[in-house]
Amino acid sequence: MSNLDSLDKIVSLAKARGFIFQSSEIYGGLSAVYDYGPLGVELKRNIRNAWWKEMTQRHNNIVGVDAAIFMHPKVWEASGHVGGFNDPMIDDKQSKKRYRADMLIEQYIMKLEKDGKADKATEIQELLDTSGTRKSLTEDLYDIIIENEIRSPDSGAFDWTEVRQFNLMFKTQFGATSSEEDGVYLRPETAQGIFVNYKNVLDTSRVGVPFGIAQTGKAFRNEVVARQFVFRMREFEQMEMQYFVEPGTDAEAYDAWKEKRISWHKRIGIREENLRFADHPQDKLAHYALAAVDVQYQFPIGWQEVEGIHNRSDFDLTQHQEFSGKKLDYFDQKAGKRYVPYVIETSIGLDRCTLMVLCDSYREEEVDGDKRVVLKMHPELAPIQVGVFPLIKKGPLQEIARKIEADLREDYSVQYDEAGSIGKRYRRLDEAGTPFCVTVDFDTIEQDQKVTIRHRDDMSQVRVDIDKVGDVIRDGMKNWKAE
Ligand code: ATP
Repeated sequence: MSNLDSLDKIVSLAKARGFIFQSSEIYGGLSAVYDYGPLGVELKRNIRNAWWKEMTQRHNNIVGVDAAIFMHPKVWEASGHVGGFNDPMIDDKQSKKRYRADMLIEQYIMKLEKDGKADKATEIQELLDTSGTRKSLTEDLYDIIIENEIRSPDSGAFDWTEVRQFNLMFKTQFGATSSEEDGVYLRPETAQGIFVNYKNVLDTSRVGVPFGIAQTGKAFRNEVVARQFVFRMREFEQMEMQYFVEPGTDAEAYDAWKEKRISWHKRIGIREENLRFADHPQDKLAHYALAAVDVQYQFPIGWQEVEGIHNRSDFDLTQHQEFSGKKLDYFDQKAGKRYVPYVIETSIGLDRCTLMVLCDSYREEEVDGDKRVVLKMHPELAPIQVGVFPLIKKGPLQEIARKIEADLREDYSVQYDEAGSIGKRYRRLDEAGTPFCVTVDFDTIEQDQKVTIRHRDDMSQVRVDIDKVGDVIRDGMKNWKAE
């Protein structure tokens, strides 16, 4: 179970401690766009590094690329995004607010279920599931909303426009002149940068099918329903890997990647009971997919997708072959045959993953009558891994603490802190998710040349020789287990 009943506490902690801020806050903010502060940028980078290491360093047949955000506009025609990357939207004429028509219906179904009207809920769910089979998708959704008198969630009005398809891609001008042909899109996914470079990678690296290409980078979607903090943003970061396989071996590779990916989530410290797979039913697959499954996390807002694993078949390479006129097939020398590889894709949102780590690690505990807020995240992900404190601001204590700080900085992100009581300093770093604090006290200089290492999760303390501090921290990092 989640430790939280809403995202509110995470949103305020994120702001108060410098993990995540609203973009352009001093101007009133920009909706669904967020900036990462000093702690957030480290946490996000550590998650990105953990993913990159998992995908590239741990696999001898996966290499990386870093493709540009701008791509030739034809890419998005070939990928199907110009024609098909749409959400069905409906506007409340009174409040002028826009909603995703299918989500409006889903909310209505949830309300019916809550009110004990299960039969009605099932009936509407069936209508929703078969939308697009009676008239068109937009007309079918419109009919459900009108026939059931579904009202606007904000204004309560029943004054709707028709349902229209709304393309999620941002378009901008390229170059000095502004003709229609100069228009380019901000990429809505990083995957296409991999497909268009697939041949370059094959020709220049020592890889052959099966092999993978990994990439992390920004993606942009003009999301209409974007009200859940960094869960759904208009500018976000993706970490994607496309694995090219021989057709016929794709189902096996798909199953293998499913298992590898969910194990990674557990390895970065996410509790098993908060993770699950959710298969996409065949009739709800994206236009490119033969099979698709989500890795879902139990957020305070319910079970939601964090990562998608897709069997994209040869859809993308075949499309790019057709639109570019360039051959994108593969010659398998051993087998002496030519084919267009199938692609298994793993696609995870870095921001959503950061939110998952924050939610999963958040704990409120009672300690000596006080509330302790602590982020019990994997030590490798912690933005500050070690805190170093002199017990009080006294020269000899400071000197030793500064020396320990400098030594540890070679391997860890360290914060030196001498302000306030020791208890306050521990609490500050508990909220930042810092797994270890090292305190230099009078005994250190007067008696034993030892310091106290305090562990974040159980608040236990051990006395350790100064020259053993690095070893104890290294072991603690390695042997950490999620509670
Ligand atoms: P959703 O159904 O939530 O809109 P999606 O199925 O469109 O997601 P994909 O296109 O499969 O998502 O993208 C892969 C991953 O990118 C998602 O699992 C998610 O983690 C992340 N992602 C997608 N859209 C957003 C967004 N607007 N903000 C933050 N992360 C996103």
